[in-house]
Amino acid sequence: MPQEPASDARQELENLAIRKRRVYLGALALAVLIMLLSWLFRDPDDYFLGHIYPVFAILTSILLVLVWRAPVPLRWLEIAMVTTLGALVLGRLAWHHHVAGPIDQQLLVLAGGHYWAVGALIVGVFVMLDRRYGVLAGSILLLASAVITVTGVLPDLRADRASGEALMYLLRVHVFLALLLVLVSAVAGLRDQLQRALVRAEVLDHWASTDVLTDLANRRAMDQFLRQQMATARRRGQPLSVILVDLDHFKRINDTHGHNVGDQVIQETARRLERNVRESDLVARWGGEEFLIALPGEALPAATRTAERCRSTLSATPIAGVEVTATFGVAELKPDDGLDELLRRADRRMYRGKATGRNRVIAQQTPDDANQCFP
Ligand code: GH3
Ligand code: MG
Ligand code: MG
Repeated sequence: MPQEPASDARQELENLAIRKRRVYLGALALAVLIMLLSWLFRDPDDYFLGHIYPVFAILTSILLVLVWRAPVPLRWLEIAMVTTLGALVLGRLAWHHHVAGPIDQQLLVLAGGHYWAVGALIVGVFVMLDRRYGVLAGSILLLASAVITVTGVLPDLRADRASGEALMYLLRVHVFLALLLVLVSAVAGLRDQLQRALVRAEVLDHWASTDVLTDLANRRAMDQFLRQQMATARRRGQPLSVILVDLDHFKRINDTHGHNVGDQVIQETARRLERNVRESDLVARWGGEEFLIALPGEALPAATRTAERCRSTLSATPIAGVEVTATFGVAELKPDDGLDELLRRADRRMYRGKATGRNRVIAQQTPDDANQCFP
């Protein structure tokens, strides 16, 4: 069971991108639908609806296809979406204020639709962009809406055509939009903070359980894994075996070929061991040039075969020009074993292998096994 948190994280990011795309597809489809309905039931004098909406409907449909087919990075599409929908919403707002007529006649349609659209877009930019750019884009939207509103209302005011009620209403709308911006920005800030904390926790967790040289599980991770697997094995009445591996004459390899070659030998040994175990097994770097393999569900004979396979793979081809062998001690969990007893048995067998010539697998108990004591 090789550890691959990096690819886990990548998988999670891909899932997130897929979910984001789905949300965008829904939002864009809805935007096209609204434009289509507005166009179908338009006032014949409404130039903006008659001529500008179809252009935006086509642009939005192109964006929809791009988001769906995903030929370009999502980031670009997000910027294109913010720009297109922002231009549409603000353009329509400006048209109502500056072209369509006095504010009191526009108020109902602005209140019922267009300021809502500005609000929806303010929320949308925080979904699409991170907090910093969300605040920037949201503030631009709010400011543009305020400028369009003020410049639209001023001529009405001068001509004494705007009711105080309408002005109060427009002011309230913008206060609410500002409040919305602050709230969404706060939520986005919390979201970003949570994300950073999760990433930090994941990185810490990875390095707390991974060996830097080999990328295998480290001793701590193996210890935890074995304790869990022992409990599972007991509960289900299934076997559990371990293989302790120690490279032979490793000091000599270091002394003769240097520490770098020694490191390469340790790394390649890790790869070869991993290649010879099942997905459900765990290979860990137990110490300097010692490895421990946990084999859940495997009894002694199967674990011995695995150890033999590892032994012959290791000795078959030299690593960095060096002939490498290792000695293997195999043990199976007994009903009243603790973790220490199980490991001690594997250790004793490994040392017996060292004493009887190295480059071998020892899985059998000898009568004096229990009394032997090795460092
Ligand atoms: P034996 O066959 O009896 O196991 O002999 P050995 O020389 O392998 O003896 P031992 O297992 O005691 O040697 C461990 C050596 O591994 C000592 C240490 O210098 C070396 N070592 C431990 N960690 C590393 C490492 O990360 N890189 C390198 N290059 N050497 C290491
Ligand atoms: Mg050793
Ligand atoms: Mg050794």
